[in-house]
Order: sequence, then C-alpha cells, then structure tokens
Amino acid sequence: MTPELSQLFEFLRFPSISTDSRHKGDVRACAEWLDAKLTGMGLTSTIHETAGHPIVVARNQHVEGKLNLMIYGHYDVQPVDPVELWASPPFEPEIRDGKIYARGATDNKGQMFAHVLGVEKALADGELPVNLTLLFEGEEEIGSKNLTPFLEAHREELACDVIAVSDTGMVGPGIPTMGYGLRGITCGEVIVTGPSSDLHSGVYGGSVMNPVTAVARIVASLHDADEKVAIDGFYSDVAPLEDWEREAWSKVPFGEKEYLAETGAPASVGEAGYTVAERLWGRPTAEVNGIGGGYQGEGSKTVIAREAMAKLSFRLVPGQDPDDILDKVEAHVMANAPKGVDVKFVRGHSGEPYLNDPHSDYGKAAQASLATTFGKEPVLIREGGSIPIINTFKTILGADSLMLGLAVPGCKIHAPNESFNVENFEAGIELNQELIRRLGALGKKS
Ligand SMILES: [Zn+2]
Repeated sequence: MTPELSQLFEFLRFPSISTDSRHKGDVRACAEWLDAKLTGMGLTSTIHETAGHPIVVARNQHVEGKLNLMIYGHYDVQPVDPVELWASPPFEPEIRDGKIYARGATDNKGQMFAHVLGVEKALADGELPVNLTLLFEGEEEIGSKNLTPFLEAHREELACDVIAVSDTGMVGPGIPTMGYGLRGITCGEVIVTGPSSDLHSGVYGGSVMNPVTAVARIVASLHDADEKVAIDGFYSDVAPLEDWEREAWSKVPFGEKEYLAETGAPASVGEAGYTVAERLWGRPTAEVNGIGGGYQGEGSKTVIAREAMAKLSFRLVPGQDPDDILDKVEAHVMANAPKGVDVKFVRGHSGEPYLNDPHSDYGKAAQASLATTFGKEPVLIREGGSIPIINTFKTILGADSLMLGLAVPGCKIHAPNESFNVENFEAGIELNQELIRRLGALGKKS
C-alpha cells in the first residue's frame, strides 16, 4: 500500500458521525488527527471550537500579491445503518477491485484528503504560489449549522478569491467533470380542511367538498399536458440556457437509456423541448413529495376525511427568486382551491440557485488542471441538487466555488458499501497540485 493510501486509511478509521452524540469524541479525535497532519505539513493549523463540532482551518504564510485560494471539505460522515448490509466493516477500510470501501471514502474524506495530499506535494516543491486556506468542517452532514456564523466572524481572515470544493460527482469514471451551477429549492405544504370531523360518505357524500379530492385537484393543476409547470409567472425570470451550454451538455455521455437503467423508471418524462440533462440541470420543477388524507388501512372505509395534505417542493434555476416563487405558488394554490374547503399554504425552507462562469480565468485554470490530470477535456455540467454552503460562501466571502467532484456513479455515498476508486484518489492528489500551480500562475487580480 502506498503511504498516501495508508494515511487515508488512518483518516477513514475515525467514526466521525456528526449526527450521533455518542460519536462526539470520535469527531473531535478526527479533527485533532487532521490538525496534526496539517501542522506536520508545515501549515499553521487551528482547531476552532463551535457550538457543535470543531472547524479546522490551516494556512500557509500569506503574502501580498498572491491569489487567495480556499479549499473546503468536511471530515464528518453519515451514520452506517444498516450495518449488516456492509460487506466489510465501515470503519475498517479495505480495497477490493480497485475501490476503497469505507464510510466517508468518497463523501468526503477521500476527496478532501486528496486535496490535503495535493497541497503536501505542492509544498514539497517549495513555497506555494498561492495564499492557501484549508477549511474543514465537521457538520456538513447535519446542515453546517455553525459554519455560517463562523464565516461571518472570520470574514477577513477567510477572505479569498476562489474556492475549490470536491464534494460533487463525475458523470462517469474517467470523465473529468466540472460543475458550475446548482439548482435552488423552495418548499411548502398544502393543508385542506373540510368538515369538522370525518363524515359517513353515504349520509353526507355529494353534499360537501371532499378534502382529498380538493388536494388532488390542486396537485393536478401544477402541470399542464406538456409537463410544464402551470403556475402563473413560474418561468418568467428563468435564465434561458445558453447555446454553449446546450452544446456542451449534448456532449456529456449521459443518455436516456443509461438514465432509465439508473432510475428503474419505465420512461423518462419531463418538460417538452428539453433533453434529460437540460431538464435536470437547467430547468425548474414542481414536485409532490407526499400526499395524504383519508383512510389508508385494509379494505374499504366509506368516509369523507376532514383533512388532507400535500407536500410540495420546487427546484429553481438561476434568475428565480425562492420567495417570489413561493408567492406565486401560494397564489396558484389559492386560485385552484375548490369551494367548500379551507385551504392553507404553509411556507417551507428555501435555498437560492447558484451559477458561476466556467469560462472565467479560475474556471479555465480548473478545466486545464482536470484535462492534464485525466488526459482528456473535462465536461461542464450543472447539478440538479443544491449545496447551500456554496451560496453561503458566495454571500459571505464573495467568492465562487470550483466544483471538482471525484465521486463516480454507484459510489453509494450515505449508503452501505460506500466506495472511492483508488484511481480517483490518486488523480485527486495530482489534480490539486495542478490546480495550485495553475491558479498560482494567474496571480492576484487587482
Ligand atoms: Zn454527504
């Protein structure tokens, strides 16, 4: 085993499960190990206490005139349940068929440690060409609650020009991938109440509005026959896809057939006029995440329920404002509420969409680093999901994030038998060296 792998194995052996208070000591021990590693590399490393798990920040000697690069990652992991489905114990890393199996192998210890070792290799060549800040938190898997106040309190010390984050995916093994956008989200719940209690459907049926029917009508009104969202003004601020994006995405080896195999769905259905990739990365959606009301037990029960509900969420794209969308959703729900029931719309949580320019100097440096490392041109993608911390960085530090994910499809993050390709771990080390070199060459923008 290479010294790099054996160090990663040490890191993976800490059961740093942030959500489980029984592992509080393990999370701290993991932070201390990381701090010692960073200090051993000649960096100034500090463990910062928070109301929850610690944040580790390390830096080289910053000097005037160099570009400030921040690298972000997280050393906490998800729980391992159901542990009996693991082929090898989650905190005893093992290599099988070129993959490292352990909890955190991909998400995020393997990817963040590739950054660390890339920095170590770059340091071996002498002084770094960048002012580097490494920021590693222990609460990503539980919503990064204490990171926002930390960023606010340390805004000046953490000031940077650009951020590198490896916590996203590659579209396939050996296909270097750079993400430059994320969808936002907003949520709400529709609650419909009718009679003051459940009613006999024979005695009262046909004379009162049924709340379950009402919820079904509201849900059905969200889309038209072309699978477009039928809410007034929903698309009015959507930034249209640029020609270069449609062109770039058409080259992503991501076909309908593979997609059906991955999802197990009988057919791909979505907004007319867009490819699967475009629907996922560049178009907004309305989804029903849950619907309920009435009798759910065995057999039949002739009842008109007094209440019914539906949980809705909306994935948003650049241009759309979560609050504005929620206003439009609420107006739509009310306008489509049948007579004879009370309809309430409860607003839920939101997150802004994110987009940066992959053709900026930083983006080009990152793409060139990916190309050198993997020996082919990277594909440019946006992601369908949301990473709130990327927006927080933009808001508080004013810096964009280069999303250089190394996770491959099927790596099973958050699930039993999580793995990370050894090949990607090694590529990640090289990628980080390249990135530091190329960003360093850009120098400080004045
Ligand atoms: Zn995760």
